[in-house]
Amino acid sequence: MERVRTATGVIDLGSFADRLRVPPGGPVDLATIDADATPGYDGDKADAEAELTALHEELFGFQERLWAERRQSMLIVLQALDGGGKDGVIGNVFTAFNPQGVRVTAFGVPTEEELAHDFLWRVHPHAPGRGRIAIFNRSHYEDVLVVRVARLAPASVWRPRYAQINDFERVLAASGTTILKFMLHISRDEQRERFQKRLDNPAKRWKFRLGDLEARARWDAYQSAYDEALARCSPETAPWFVIPANRKWYRDLAVARIVADAARRMAPHFPEPEEDLSGVVIAE
Ligand code: AMP
Ligand code: MG
Repeated sequence: MERVRTATGVIDLGSFADRLRVPPGGPVDLATIDADATPGYDGDKADAEAELTALHEELFGFQERLWAERRQSMLIVLQALDGGGKDGVIGNVFTAFNPQGVRVTAFGVPTEEELAHDFLWRVHPHAPGRGRIAIFNRSHYEDVLVVRVARLAPASVWRPRYAQINDFERVLAASGTTILKFMLHISRDEQRERFQKRLDNPAKRWKFRLGDLEARARWDAYQSAYDEALARCSPETAPWFVIPANRKWYRDLAVARIVADAARRMAPHFPEPEEDLSGVVIAE
C-alpha cells in the first residue's frame, strides 16, 4: 500500500479511506457517528490545509493522466442535509481539477418532464465518459431520501430503488467508472448555526429557503433514510463514505485523501503516441 508523508507523519491513504467507508450491507447508524470527530487525523487545521494543498497538486496530475489515457472515468457523488457543505467541498477540493475534464451536475427538484420518466433518466446522461470526472451535487439518492421522507411517492415506488440504484451503478462500474460517494455528516446543532449564519449574512441569505426548515423538522426521518440508503447501496465497486463534517478543514481533507487514494489505484498513464514519432524533429 502506498504511503504518504505529511506534517503529522506517514499515513496510509487506503486504511484512512477504510475507516470512513460503509461496509457492504452496513450497518450504518448516523446517530452514533460524531460529526465533530476527526478520525484518522491528529493534526490541526493548519497541517490539514498544507496537506490539502499538496493533494491538490497530486489530483491535478491524476486528472491530466486520466484525460490523456481516456480509458477510465470517475464519478463523485456528494450528499448531505442542507448546510452539510457540498458546495464547500466542490469549491475547496475539486478546484484541484482542470475545468476542461470535470463537470459538476446539481440535481434539484425534478422538472415535469423528468418526473414523466424513470428516476434515472435525468441522471444517466451526466455519467462521466472515458477520461472524465463527474461530480454530482445531490444525485439519484434523493429518490430514496427526500422522496421517501417527504412522501413524494409511495413505498411501492421508492423501495425497489435501492436495488435499481445498485444495478445502475454496477453498469457504470463495469464500463470503467470508479464511483466514490460521500455523505457529509453534520450535527443538528451545527446545521442550526450554519442556517443562522446564512440568514444573518446578506451574501449568504440567497442560499436559505424556508423549505430547508421543513427538512430540518424531519431530521430523524432523514437520518434513518440515510442509514438505509448507505447500508444498502455500498458495494465494493461503489462505496459510501461517511465524512464527519462539522469541521470544514477535516471534511475537505478527508474527501481529498479518499479521492487521492482511489486515483492512485486507478493509476492512469500517458498513452504512447498513436503514430511513430521517433526521429521527428521540428524544422525551424
Ligand atoms: P439545493 O441543493 O439546496 O439547491 O436544493 C435542491 C432541492 O432539490 C433540495 O431540496 C432537494 O431535496 C430537492 N431535490 C433533489 N432531487 C429531488 C428529487 N428527486 N425529488 C424531489 N426533490 C428533489
Ligand atoms: Mg439548499
